[in-house]
Amino acid sequence: MSAYNNFTIETDADGIALVTWDMPDKSMNVFTVEVMDELDKIIDQVVADAAVKGVVITSGKSSFSGGADLSMIKASFDLLKDAQAADPATAVKKLFDTTGRMTWLFRKLETSGKPWVSAINGTCMGGAFEMSLACHGRVASNAKSVKIALPEVKVGIFPGAGGTQRVPRLANAQDALQMMTTGSSLTGARAKAMNLVHQVVEPDQLIPAAKQMIKDGLKPVQPWDEKGFKAPGGGIWTPASAQLWPAAPAILRRETAGNYPGALAILKCVYEGLQVPFETGLRIEQRYFTHILQTTEAFSMIRSLFISMQELGKGARRPAGIPKAEFKKVAVVGAGFMGASIAYVTAAAGIPVVLIDRDQEAADKGKTHSEGLVTGAIGKGRMSKEDGEKLLSLITPTPDYAALADADLVIEAVFEDRTVKKEVTEKIEAVLKEDAIFASNTSTLPITGLAKNSRRPNQFIGIHFFSPVENMMLVEVILGKETGDKALATALDYVAAIRKTPIVVNDTRGFYVNRCVFRYMAEAYDMLIEGVPAAMIENAAKMAGMPVGPLSLNDEVAVDLSYKIFKASIADLGAESVDLRHMELVTTLVEGEGRLGRKAGKGFYDYPPKPAKKKLWPGLKDLYPQQKPEDVDIQVLKQRLLVTIALEAARTMEEGIVTDPREADVGSILGFGFAPYTGGTLSYIDGMGVKAFVALCEKLAATYGSHFQPTPLLKDMAAKDETFYGRFAPQAKKAA
Ligand code: NAD
Repeated sequence: MSAYNNFTIETDADGIALVTWDMPDKSMNVFTVEVMDELDKIIDQVVADAAVKGVVITSGKSSFSGGADLSMIKASFDLLKDAQAADPATAVKKLFDTTGRMTWLFRKLETSGKPWVSAINGTCMGGAFEMSLACHGRVASNAKSVKIALPEVKVGIFPGAGGTQRVPRLANAQDALQMMTTGSSLTGARAKAMNLVHQVVEPDQLIPAAKQMIKDGLKPVQPWDEKGFKAPGGGIWTPASAQLWPAAPAILRRETAGNYPGALAILKCVYEGLQVPFETGLRIEQRYFTHILQTTEAFSMIRSLFISMQELGKGARRPAGIPKAEFKKVAVVGAGFMGASIAYVTAAAGIPVVLIDRDQEAADKGKTHSEGLVTGAIGKGRMSKEDGEKLLSLITPTPDYAALADADLVIEAVFEDRTVKKEVTEKIEAVLKEDAIFASNTSTLPITGLAKNSRRPNQFIGIHFFSPVENMMLVEVILGKETGDKALATALDYVAAIRKTPIVVNDTRGFYVNRCVFRYMAEAYDMLIEGVPAAMIENAAKMAGMPVGPLSLNDEVAVDLSYKIFKASIADLGAESVDLRHMELVTTLVEGEGRLGRKAGKGFYDYPPKPAKKKLWPGLKDLYPQQKPEDVDIQVLKQRLLVTIALEAARTMEEGIVTDPREADVGSILGFGFAPYTGGTLSYIDGMGVKAFVALCEKLAATYGSHFQPTPLLKDMAAKDETFYGRFAPQAKKAA
């Protein structure tokens, strides 16, 4: 009976139509224009068919649906471009109508006169959950894979297909706001506790339970369409609401520093929407959604955090024509802090790993790390015992290099010491099969230099992980001068296999991420030396949207590491390569005070035993004459911290270290949390306009030093009114 590409319909003897969403050639169902067209027709069809008493909608895939599709979002961008063109009013009206398509389709579904039940069998995100909310019944499977969320805020927008109106008409307003402004995932059980699903059942009971709801006489009318409906807690004009609403904007501001218009729009939609009839609420939501789509934040976040991240994850930079690498065995040499974690994430992807260190004890110690993680995950119910045992069985610790002879990829993570690395490279290559790829996890040593230790430098590459490896989604893949395409393809296939996002960068001291991070910390050193109170530096960073203040970050990566890097730079490049005032500050902390960072319990902060919280070290005040807080402009501090990083990113583009703006942006957000609302370092510049950025740099340079001088590339782009995405697009396209 099915005349649809994306759905099948089977009507049973009880007159219940089972609509199964199963898009061809896609691993996950997503909303596209075609899907909406077909759903529209299905609604008409079941309404017209007197034999159909009710409808159960489910998915034919392991997940329910991920929400809206890339191509639809891209289409909205094109409409946005129109909006900026000659006839903005018409274009915005068009945008308004397009963004309302889902809203009014779901409204049609819920007012179709027949009962609909959504049977949520797996991950159900965004627009797919909004569709489920429009169904009269919702049943979720209790499988661990079921995650329910309205995560739109994470890409700068908000649930704009009825989510902001239906959720607070089902759940209490506080829970509703919490769910939508954080975009966090709910289990089926939590969704039920919030009144967002009606039942949670065993996976094999999902469809029967959904059908039973209809057989039990589920009314095809939503609560908000019933006479006398009141939102949970009684709506806006109640004593409980009088507690919630005055505080809500303040709480949101504390969490987001006012940087996320999408999050604020959720508050407005809920507050305004609960005071009017449901359909008026939908229109209010549609208006705010149209407005938010036109913000720089939404545009930049969707581009970087959705489109570019997916493109890079799918191998946008992978050279064509090289067969996909299969990893029958990966070897990790050096079972220390990094090696142990690299072995874990590799085994977690189902790949057998040999973990090699100098002796059996050191190798075993590396595996102990995985054992600890597995035990923890089993204890928290996140991993089954069998899966844990299987993961651990994939890791073989040994001091015997012969065990890596048949590895497809070797990742070296031994001491950051050229001599040790040379010795280890030679030992590995003495046994390694000819076509295997050799990767170094070095964080500071140029790959081209290390490749000189290799007999096959075209098979030598950098795979630079970030700590903690288990949580950090980014991996920098570094090309040495002689690195060949097969090495690059293999590295990217490996990063994809362990489900992380790669950026590909050319060889330089500090690569991309650490160069930017170093500028962030250096600007904080400057501020301290100027006598800016340390607490203002840290707070300015958070207000600018950075997840961690620069001093706190320096403590995490270790102050003595900064000290060692300064010393190494002086040894390699001469004293003029570092700022001696910075060197003096760090030397005072490390040598004078033993303040090595968090690992030592003291750095820029003091770390008292838990549960006490860390506190800035009071002694910082005595190092430099202090300015009065009221004399310091916090807006300027915020600008300095973001601009110095963005400028460094621009330099890496100018030097050809990073070649694709998508990688600079995604790398900055995943690598060090660069203010996500900007869309990343280069989107920050493009977003304000290169001209404005150059002017800002010049203003800052006049007061705070020549390191703020705009570079020749930036000046050229400003003169030509170019953007990074415009100027470097051919490269991005070619690579894609
Ligand atoms: P680590 O000291 O914790 O571990 C190094 C391991 O290498 C030790 O277990 C040591 O026994 C082993 N080793 C030394 N010589 C060896 C040899 N000849 N044969 C076999 N094993 C040998 O160091 P780490 O922090 O894990 O750093 C390892 C590498 O990763 C370095 O190149 C470092 O720059 C890089 N890196 C570190 C970080 C970080 O945050 N620590 C981040 C990115 C990259």
